[in-house]
Amino acid sequence: QAKNRGKDQVVVFDGAMAGTAKRRMDDEIALARAITDEQLVLHYQPIIALDTGRPVGAEALVRWHRPGHGMQAPDRFIPMAEESGLIVDLGRWVLHQACRDAAGWPHQAPIMADASVSVNVSARQLTHPRFLADLQTALAETGLAPERLILEITETALISEPEAAMETLHAVRACGVQLALDDFGTGYSSLSYVQKLPATILKIDKSFVDPISGPGAGTALSEVVVKLAEAIGMRTVAEGVESPEQATALRLLGCHRGQGYTWSRPVPNAELREVAMRLAGVAGLPRSAT
Ligand code: C2E
Ligand code: MG
Ligand code: MG
Ligand code: MG
Repeated sequence: QAKNRGKDQVVVFDGAMAGTAKRRMDDEIALARAITDEQLVLHYQPIIALDTGRPVGAEALVRWHRPGHGMQAPDRFIPMAEESGLIVDLGRWVLHQACRDAAGWPHQAPIMADASVSVNVSARQLTHPRFLADLQTALAETGLAPERLILEITETALISEPEAAMETLHAVRACGVQLALDDFGTGYSSLSYVQKLPATILKIDKSFVDPISGPGAGTALSEVVVKLAEAIGMRTVAEGVESPEQATALRLLGCHRGQGYTWSRPVPNAELREVAMRLAGVAGLPRSAT
């Protein structure tokens, strides 16, 4: 289109393009450095069993302390990492660090002894030839029991290379590691495909939780998803639960677990113990104490 607009505009357009390309390259170089210079950090968001109100695990969510830019949320750099291929190194670091942190939880607090750690895995990382070897290395070097690790994958991530992904997922399960289908409902893979996945956990996307205002109010879509998961034998985790009313409504629908600001935001590993103890303590308070 630029070509059709006359000379001056072509120059302006090219200048802008060059600027964008340069910024892009600077960002990629900075991110590559972030991985080796320990600028990445994992925060953990507790996952709560809705029937008992107790924390049963936590999801690892990566942040980037970028010098001169403050703390960057993953939406600001994960897409770039995926497009550039840096996600393979970044994802390997995340997996290793999350396993190491979770291996330490039983020593931090008895209530976290069996807690699982959920780690997000991108398509490009999953289908990389070294992925299984990296996974086994992370487990062996940290001593984390494979049953305590849950890998979160997205439907959209599986569409690009369904066969290769499926083979890897079966190998992951064979290691004893669990699989969760993340952001369920935002993709558009067929039900038969979802059913074929060796995943045992289905994460209900926040967009299904948002319309819920209380039991029976705005629950139509999440109810369908919980029923579907039940029908194919999967456990459910609701994402983005922001109010006690939503938590109650989801529990009454038969959803197993919840995650969201109503319990806790993602926190640094050093703060997780305190948050988990607060959540467990609140759940354990005798009702007739007053
Ligand atoms: P996700 O896996 O669906 O993670 C849930 C996101 O929802 C997190 O955002 C979390 O902070 C946010 N969240 C949780 N509860 C609430 C709530 O009650 N209200 C609201 N408004 N938000 C809530 P975050 O940490 O910004 O991560 C965004 C996405 O970035 C993640 O979505 C995941 O897809 C991706 N991501 C994060 N860490 C990694 C990683 O290590 N590797 C890969 N490949 N992707 C990652
Ligand atoms: Mg996730
Ligand atoms: Mg999610
Ligand atoms: Mg989500």
